[in-house]
Amino acid sequence: MGSSWIVEHRCTQCGAPITLEEADRYFACPFCRVRICLTTDDHFRYYLQPMDNPPEEIFYVPFWRVRGIWFICDDELEIKSSIVDATYCGFHGGPYPESLGLRPQALKLRFAGPESGSIFPEPPQEFNSIFERVEGGLPHYHISNSPVRVFHKSFLGEKVSIVYAPFFLKNRALHDGILGKPLKALRDGMSNVPPQGSIGRPLTVIPAMCPECGSDLEGGRDSIVFFCRNCNKAWYLTKNNLERKGFLVLNGNQEATSYLPFWRIKAQVDGLKVQTMADLARLANLPVVVREEWESTGLFFWVPGFKVHASLFLRLARLLTLHQPGDFVDHEEPLDAPQPVSLPVDDASDSITVIIASLIAMKKRIWPSLESVTISQLHADLVYIPFQEQEGDYFNPSLKISVPKNSLKFGQNL
Ligand SMILES: [Zn+2]
Ligand SMILES: [Zn+2]
Repeated sequence: MGSSWIVEHRCTQCGAPITLEEADRYFACPFCRVRICLTTDDHFRYYLQPMDNPPEEIFYVPFWRVRGIWFICDDELEIKSSIVDATYCGFHGGPYPESLGLRPQALKLRFAGPESGSIFPEPPQEFNSIFERVEGGLPHYHISNSPVRVFHKSFLGEKVSIVYAPFFLKNRALHDGILGKPLKALRDGMSNVPPQGSIGRPLTVIPAMCPECGSDLEGGRDSIVFFCRNCNKAWYLTKNNLERKGFLVLNGNQEATSYLPFWRIKAQVDGLKVQTMADLARLANLPVVVREEWESTGLFFWVPGFKVHASLFLRLARLLTLHQPGDFVDHEEPLDAPQPVSLPVDDASDSITVIIASLIAMKKRIWPSLESVTISQLHADLVYIPFQEQEGDYFNPSLKISVPKNSLKFGQNL
């Protein structure tokens, strides 16, 4: 299970201390009531507080922090998934530890911005270059020596941040800057110059106010979509802005007590014929006669807009993609209790190949084609599906879909 780290922050308006969870993108200051959205144009950057009065000068080393679900479709014809939740030293091969271990769970993080007054070096390589190390840390499903042929792999809901850990050098040995303990003697020829860097990048802080009417925006703490109840508009938190996002509401034919968000994506699929409803019926080997009009009915891929464990994620995507719901209602009133959107639309598009893989009936014959499948997102709608809240789950009787409440809580930590 993923672990959530705690971030100590100060309200940018009144300076009051605020405790955030790592996934939080929105908070209301309990003191001055200001509502804020947090975003970044690449990665969130945090640092771990060093010990008081270190004997030598502290310097910081970046660690990549990676979380998400890793999917693999291989020649055993199963979709395998693993939760990735790990850290990797950004200065691979140096004297520094390869990972931070479990330590950050017990400590508090702070945002590594210029206000800290510290120097934070950038990792020398882009994140993509450490994918191999991420893969290397995954569990081995295959005991036999025969190499497994992987048809598709993807990383869902990938969250990549940078965590800076403090160190210092004393008597030609690297020391842990939190506990003050020696870690490793520097070998001859090993540089004793700490990594150089800049003074840290500021966070992008956006007031959570409707850009159109100025009313307060509402949203869950890990949400990237916010609502204005005054003008009933939704706003999508991008890397540097709030952008207007239209949304559709599915007809529930009855009272709804909550709404769950889904992405309905029109995509260009190259490498496999799956553009129409008829293609889908054949691919999934549906026990129905393929109707003629299906040959020209464009297909939408439905992807949960929230994070849940891998099997539920795929089950919901499969059910809705097979169902192709299309009965929408005009919704002029603000939605009651919309659940937070925590999966960005581009991440949702990245999961389409694995959704197709799970829909394919004749895996042995068709899965090898997954190797050459490429997906381009053409259009994406945010759709809210009405659900009735029951004791342990959300239920939609017309689609016969239920989503356990616990699974949404679990997803917040992914
Ligand atoms: Zn405040
Ligand atoms: Zn408004």
